[in-house]
Amino acid sequence: MQEFETVIGLEVHVELLTKTKMFCGCSTAFGASPNTQVCPLCLGLPGGTVPELNRKAIEYTIKAAMALNCSITEEITFDRKNYFYADLPKGYQISQFFYPMGTGGYVEIHLNGSTKKIGIRQIHLEEDTGKLLHLGNIISSPYSRVDFNRAGVPLVEIVTDPEVRSAEEARLFLQKLRSILRYIEISDCKMEEGSMRCDANISLMPLGSKEFGNKTELKNMNSFRSVYKGIEYEVERQRNILLEGAEVTPQTRHWDESKGLTKAMRSKFVSADYRCFPDPAIPPFDPPQEWLEEIRESIPELPDSRFTRFVREYELPPYDAEVLTGSREMADFFDAVLTLYNEPKNVSNWIMSEFLRLLNSTNTEISECRIKPEDLGELLNLMDKEVISGKIAKGVFEEMFASGEKPEDIIKKKGLVQISDENTLSKIIDSVLEGNPSSVEDFHSGKNKAMGFLVGQVMKETKGKANPQLVNKLLKEKIEK
Ligand SMILES: [Zn+2]
Repeated sequence: MQEFETVIGLEVHVELLTKTKMFCGCSTAFGASPNTQVCPLCLGLPGGTVPELNRKAIEYTIKAAMALNCSITEEITFDRKNYFYADLPKGYQISQFFYPMGTGGYVEIHLNGSTKKIGIRQIHLEEDTGKLLHLGNIISSPYSRVDFNRAGVPLVEIVTDPEVRSAEEARLFLQKLRSILRYIEISDCKMEEGSMRCDANISLMPLGSKEFGNKTELKNMNSFRSVYKGIEYEVERQRNILLEGAEVTPQTRHWDESKGLTKAMRSKFVSADYRCFPDPAIPPFDPPQEWLEEIRESIPELPDSRFTRFVREYELPPYDAEVLTGSREMADFFDAVLTLYNEPKNVSNWIMSEFLRLLNSTNTEISECRIKPEDLGELLNLMDKEVISGKIAKGVFEEMFASGEKPEDIIKKKGLVQISDENTLSKIIDSVLEGNPSSVEDFHSGKNKAMGFLVGQVMKETKGKANPQLVNKLLKEKIEK
């Protein structure tokens, strides 16, 4: 059967975390009542207002371009992209059509133990449109309302080279991109609130071919899961068309999450429709070299170099390092625990099992969590010093998570200090042996399981506080006598 190669290029839109819009002072806060964050300028009303550039928006775009390994344009210019649509009050969108802020970058993804670079063709700054709400009965009385709160919000568009080869690579790329953009704090990248949106250009070509097939543009994927499922569906749909000897129609398609399929929206625009020209109201300018240096210096250690450092310096398995560096808060937390308790693998195990379990089950972000890194370090110290057992430590940790209390306080308050005194344990073990003669007999007739049962009884007597190594040692001595 004919084999195909999948070719995917992604276009990602990200809303910047600026407080105000790109060319006016209107707020960008999410969730306000419709049309309350607008002014004559972002509504495109006639009059003499001149757009004023939002310096933060430009700074954030340059910062993102640098973090994505792009070259920065020498001259910053803006163009008008002309088209008519009900959510675009000016009749044009201001964008960087001719000279994007950054070009020629890349993002690395880790797939099946190897690293792959996905090229970033360009990153540019533009303004967002308003939002249409389609209401009423779609057949008999359809109508739409428009909310211009979003019109003019600074938006960064990131375009990849057509180097993504599968739905899984697309998902990994987006997760890495989100991680980087969150590390540099330019966007919250919330797909569910629309502050990160992704379109995918998808085509198939016969394996080994150099000529791309007809592509479709897939829109409306608003979670990592829907990106993955939407692309998988579209690849399979195109494959079936090609296997039947037919041609894929170039068009824009919409991912329907509830039905799990893609639907045709419209045949694809050609870019000449936009009649772009430089915006006469925004003069071009050269970003000063010192400013660029300042922005470059403000970029923190990014996920990839942190990953490498965690593997090399802390000797962590790549899987651990990947999870821990996935968010800046998590990586910071890990680094902070190590300043007090320098056993990286122990800390990693604890974070990846207990901590992540609690964060996930309570739907808590690490930034909202009440446990301080030094308290986790202290808890692990107390375990190593055998003040408490590992089992007790898990319970203490849950308490710390719920109340934010220090481990020492919880241990003192609840009397959880481990029993490591030989005399005390000896007495308890003697009474357990006396009370379970049949288990003692079982042990002597070669049933090793009986030993486990007896240890369990001692732990039960001490409410889990007995030092398990010591119990094992003493019990063995006594029973073998
Ligand atoms: Zn405004």
